[in-house]
Amino acid sequence: MKTKSILMVCLLFGLYTTGFAQKWTKNKKAVKQSVENHKTDLIAISDQIWEAAEIAFQEKKSSKLLADYAEQNGFRVERGVAEMPTAFVATYGSGSPVIGILGEFDALPGISQKTKPTKDPLVPGGNGHGCGHNLFGTGSLGAAIAVKELIAAGKLKGTVKFYGTPAEEKFFGKIWMVKAGLFDGVDAVMDWHPSATTKADVQSTLALVDFIVEFNGQAAHASADPWNGRSASDALELYTTGINYYREHIKPTVRIHYHIQDGGQVVNVVSDYSKIWVRVRDTKREGMMPVYERVQKMAEGAAIMANTDYKISLVSGIYEILVNRSGGEAMQKNLEMLGPISYTEEEEAFGKKIQEMTGKKQIGMDSSINPLEETLENPGGGSTDVGDVSWVVPVVRMGATVAPKDTPWHSWAVVACGGMSIGHKGMIQASNALAMTMVDLYEDPKLLKRVKDEFKKRKGNTVYESIIPEGPPPVGSN
Ligand SMILES: [Zn+2]
Repeated sequence: MKTKSILMVCLLFGLYTTGFAQKWTKNKKAVKQSVENHKTDLIAISDQIWEAAEIAFQEKKSSKLLADYAEQNGFRVERGVAEMPTAFVATYGSGSPVIGILGEFDALPGISQKTKPTKDPLVPGGNGHGCGHNLFGTGSLGAAIAVKELIAAGKLKGTVKFYGTPAEEKFFGKIWMVKAGLFDGVDAVMDWHPSATTKADVQSTLALVDFIVEFNGQAAHASADPWNGRSASDALELYTTGINYYREHIKPTVRIHYHIQDGGQVVNVVSDYSKIWVRVRDTKREGMMPVYERVQKMAEGAAIMANTDYKISLVSGIYEILVNRSGGEAMQKNLEMLGPISYTEEEEAFGKKIQEMTGKKQIGMDSSINPLEETLENPGGGSTDVGDVSWVVPVVRMGATVAPKDTPWHSWAVVACGGMSIGHKGMIQASNALAMTMVDLYEDPKLLKRVKDEFKKRKGNTVYESIIPEGPPPVGSN
């Protein structure tokens, strides 16, 4: 018996010293209470942003809702930062550490949807929050407010900054916020994303570059005197053919996408103008760059073949995420303390219906806390302008369940969940986990040091250099 109890004590002590025995400290309890106190407001703000469904750089109402609520809660708000009318920074407190948190709020075009589990647009052809950014921005602000209240009560020391970051879906507003030096002097930044699973996120994303190619030729009658024409449509077709042949010779980590924006207007005119948006990605920026060079050269080749002129205009480009596992480990413990979200029978039925309608297995919601993953060298998935932030300041990330498992992202199904209780519950979970991890960063200088040391080590000698040229963000060019 005695040996057993000694063993037990050793085991418990071991758990404590390795940090598994996280407990509900006063400050973490206060975080939960704060999020609970603001819950009705947070849900109302999120729903208003969901309904407004404003796309890149048009998020006037959404940005104002968040900035106003931050101001009402005692933050100093600087609006229209980095030459973007819908970008803002809300700050509370003084001195170090300075912990930031990111909040997005832009929607996607064409996927408007009611809060119903079957496809049914709220506004036919309208925009929708198919990436859950209404929850993202609002959930992050909820966390920032919880931390602010602890600073105001003298329970934490330092500064909290909420970043209202526009146009994530199209132009990547955070790049200009980084360029404007808005993250200078910040020790760490928190970030989350709405998801179909709950986890501390220790995976990177894909680096990306966006550019537009325009071909200019000579118009002519397509039948009477086509020999007088130089076809911009021909150039476009030759260009995409080149890109598609090239696919056989690129690494599996590379992605090339394009969207034909103007392929000529009518059948009886040799078109003198065509336009295409091209996007190149790879899991590392260094792998992306040579592909970017090659795909630009192909535009020249196509122009030569069709005897047209061509013009390439860089739109934007972002880095892959620089992972921070030290922060991820702290996040993981807090998620485990919070435990999985529980759903009502109606919510489970809603989730299963969505799965049925999108051809997925009807397994319902999954909010179980995933174990901390190994960081993959070449992850799949998308890209985010959080990548650029993560090369100038350590970023700690998580995902929270706001939609049933396997839901197609950027689709009506995510819009449906983001405007009702399934989305709200994920948002509240995120507010809590983010704020609790921020509490750890304020209270534990050793943790903050580990986070910063890991950032320095992973960054190595790389000098962050945005791909975009000097100049203002493309506000107004949607
Ligand atoms: Zn998103």
